[in-house]
Amino acid sequence: MLSHVEVTARVTVTPAAHFVWSNRLDFVHDCLVCLRVGRVVRLQHGMPYGLCTGDEHPAPMRVSAFDASDHGAERRLRCRISSWWAPFSDLVEPEVQASELTAEPWVQLNYRVGCHTCRDNGVGEWLGIEGCLKSGAAPEAGSCPRCGTELVSAAAVPEIDLVG
Ligand SMILES: [Zn+2]
Ligand SMILES: [Zn+2]
Repeated sequence: MLSHVEVTARVTVTPAAHFVWSNRLDFVHDCLVCLRVGRVVRLQHGMPYGLCTGDEHPAPMRVSAFDASDHGAERRLRCRISSWWAPFSDLVEPEVQASELTAEPWVQLNYRVGCHTCRDNGVGEWLGIEGCLKSGAAPEAGSCPRCGTELVSAAAVPEIDLVG
């Protein structure tokens, strides 16, 4: 059956930051193709299928909506992950049953942030700072490694919800 999950995330940036969400994310899923629970699937918005890590097989899962929006200093991302799902028992641990939303949902979202202070000072590589938000890890505020200007002042752990 077709299943949809919504992932939402929020980051607060300073006026010195140029913030861009990456269209790549990693998502943990009970994979119907390799019949294993808790597999990390690599997804990219615009790709028609995901890649299940392990043996990198194609997975019937894609980012079906990817909406970035700005609310004042807050940068929000809402993405919908659509996949084909059916019940199964884990191939290696047959007593473990797969769920539509895996037992310990996990996602990693990535972003890139640039420093306007460095840009204004003529630094060539002012846009190259990468960061991520992931489940189970306290998000980090971030400053420019070159000039120390605060860029990301707050961030929240991403939320994962099964949607109808
Ligand atoms: Zn798989
Ligand atoms: Zn800087």
